[in-house]
Amino acid sequence: MSERKPSTEVLVVGGGMAGLAGALALRANGAEVTLVERAPEFGEVGAGLQMAPNASRVLKRWGLLEKALEIGVRPKHLVFRDALTGEELTRQTLGGEFEERYGAPYVVIHRSDLHRILLEACQEAGVRLVNDVVVEKVETVNARALAHTSSGDVYAADVVIGADGLKSTLRAAVVQDSRVQDRTIQDSPVSSSYVAYRGTVPITAETPAADLEDVVVYLGPDCHLVQYPLRKGELLNTVAVFKSPSFERGEEQYGGVDELEAAYKDCVPAVQLALRNLATSIRWPMYDRDPIENWIDGRLVLMGDAAHPMLQYLAQGACQALEDAAVLQDSTVGSVFTDDGVDTGAWDRAIGDFNSARAARTARVQRTARIWGESWHVSGVARILRNLLFKSRKDGDFQYNDWLYGQEGDGVPAAGPLAVPRTESLAGTHA
Ligand SMILES: Cc1cc2nc3c(=O)[nH]c(=O)nc-3n(C[C@H](O)[C@H](O)[C@H](O)COP(=O)(O)OP(=O)(O)OC[C@H]3O[C@@H](n4cnc5c(N)ncnc54)[C@H](O)[C@@H]3O)c2cc1C
Repeated sequence: MSERKPSTEVLVVGGGMAGLAGALALRANGAEVTLVERAPEFGEVGAGLQMAPNASRVLKRWGLLEKALEIGVRPKHLVFRDALTGEELTRQTLGGEFEERYGAPYVVIHRSDLHRILLEACQEAGVRLVNDVVVEKVETVNARALAHTSSGDVYAADVVIGADGLKSTLRAAVVQDSRVQDRTIQDSPVSSSYVAYRGTVPITAETPAADLEDVVVYLGPDCHLVQYPLRKGELLNTVAVFKSPSFERGEEQYGGVDELEAAYKDCVPAVQLALRNLATSIRWPMYDRDPIENWIDGRLVLMGDAAHPMLQYLAQGACQALEDAAVLQDSTVGSVFTDDGVDTGAWDRAIGDFNSARAARTARVQRTARIWGESWHVSGVARILRNLLFKSRKDGDFQYNDWLYGQEGDGVPAAGPLAVPRTESLAGTHA
């Protein structure tokens, strides 16, 4: 045990889903948690979010699942269709056996609702929440993390959780990987050349009735479209994602509305009509980064998109952030937070355990998301083969889901055919 006065001060940088979840997890263990956010107010931009059972299990652990279900929707099925013909390719029933197998429901929820639920839980738990703070750098001095802000203030804590998102400032400190230095991998956001537009509209008597209780994904050459209900079925969420020709030409402002319409011109009327639901004022270029193994620099540790930003094809970015928080909670309880006070060396072991437990798993999700997305956007012979494969799958065949939604110890295998093998180098390129 250290002779230093026991302390459990934690600073979380970033008030997105990851930061709020991390703050809540450590506060639940008894830490004094301060969360700083650069924006003047807490909130989320965007539309819907799919929460698979690996994430809804975490909400259940924290007693927040009921709140999510009060405002969200439990979709009946996950349905894949060919965007050129409308033909159904495969479906997964999401209640019953699926829910029993994974121990929690599949939920779709408005981002702002999930964010509010986490924010309120932090407030109720006593997390100190501070806006208008931009953290520029974290250094570790004598087992204390010092976070320097743009206004010249310094926050001192036992540990800093860097949850500052895809364009993380704090990530640079942890990326001392030799493969970055010798440029085998480049640690900057990687553009997928795809752009998303999103929107929510009220569901009315005029809304086409097909698939209204489901998550439906239309797969097209170089494009796809996702739709699902939100807010107890009152709103319809639509996301259109397409490959931008102007990105390929090297233009900086790529993926304009003209390209959106052109991308879907060969798709079935249901898809073309759905484009009307999109808010075209904001375009979302889709980025991820190559996986990194180390998330720690001294007493700074990353989580969420700062640690493992991924393409959205598996709908797992926020889900993985919730998994991070649960593992962080488990890594610190009984070690950092013990009945006898705090062992200061325990922080280093706890964040080390957290990093080890999470890096391989999230790298696998990041890399599988890239491959999964590529299979969605194929054309020609590849499309015919993809469709045959999808159609050969039966509803209730869990072999593609277990590795992602399953949990250790419940008999569900940790790997599956879709998962990129654990042994593959984390620094690999796009599949
Ligand atoms: C089109 C699309 C669809 C998606 N669909 C899904 C889905 O269905 N399911 C799912 O699980 N995931 C989905 N995702 C991914 C998910 O949205 C993200 O993974 C998740 O929101 C990341 O949360 P985060 O808290 O790590 O990062 P962010 O939400 O980016 O939060 C980072 C926070 O840190 C703050 N910040 C940044 N820098 C600083 C600083 N220096 N100092 C202080 N504060 C700072 C920012 O203001 C921000 O509030 C989707 C993503 C996209 C783009």
